[in-house]
Amino acid sequence: MGGIGGNLQAVRARMAAAALAAGRDPSSIGLLAVSKTFGAEAVIAARAEGQRAFGESYVQEAVDKIAQVADPGIEWHFIGPLQSNKTRAVAEHFDWVHSVSSLKIARRLSDQRPANRGPLSVCLQVNVSGEATKAGISEAELPALAREVASLPGLRLRGLMCIPAPAEGFDARRVPFAELARMQQRLLAAGIAVDTLSMGMSDDLEAAIAEGATWVRVGAAIFGDRTARAKVDAAGG
Ligand SMILES: *Cc1c(COP(=O)(O)O)cnc(C)c1O
Repeated sequence: MGGIGGNLQAVRARMAAAALAAGRDPSSIGLLAVSKTFGAEAVIAARAEGQRAFGESYVQEAVDKIAQVADPGIEWHFIGPLQSNKTRAVAEHFDWVHSVSSLKIARRLSDQRPANRGPLSVCLQVNVSGEATKAGISEAELPALAREVASLPGLRLRGLMCIPAPAEGFDARRVPFAELARMQQRLLAAGIAVDTLSMGMSDDLEAAIAEGATWVRVGAAIFGDRTARAKVDAAGG
């Protein structure tokens, strides 16, 4: 089997091997298929192979795709940078947001969450040492923000997310993930319930699983190279 189905099988096999190596139950680790920049047909193809959770980074692209796919069995996760003028669309169309990094955004999401959809699951994005993007809060800001977010009625605080800078080698890749896991333990010790570590992507999911990831967010290894795709699109292909 090739294409998206074969890729999904290969990613699931990597996850299972990493869980086994870490002595973890594979069913404790979810696979988020990151479909940003790929069309509805790619989501539908992955869904036909049993994939249920999809991650998106661009609000308008995602809202259009969610309407096109129109599959109530899919769980949609927003993982990109979020500006306050886009919170309503995210609150209305998504099941999770992994990238909350301010109280202002959290309050808007809570206020704008439709009552009939139940609380929106959220993770706080933390800027671990060497994070590739400038997004995310510092460890110093984390406990206070976690407490505030946990008290918002439209949200359910689930845990922490990070996007480390690319690193070479298993041991180096583990370092920022271990930091995020340690921060989760700090929150738990402070009585803040958090059950989620959203960490690990196509290149480093094994290191993230070794450190306790409960969601890995995988795009390229499932759907292919986004750079190549942008070139095809630019050429009108
Ligand atoms: C694009 C993206 C991913 C997926 O990255 P791949 O390297 O394609 O697996 C994961 N997380 C976030 C936040 C992303 O923006």
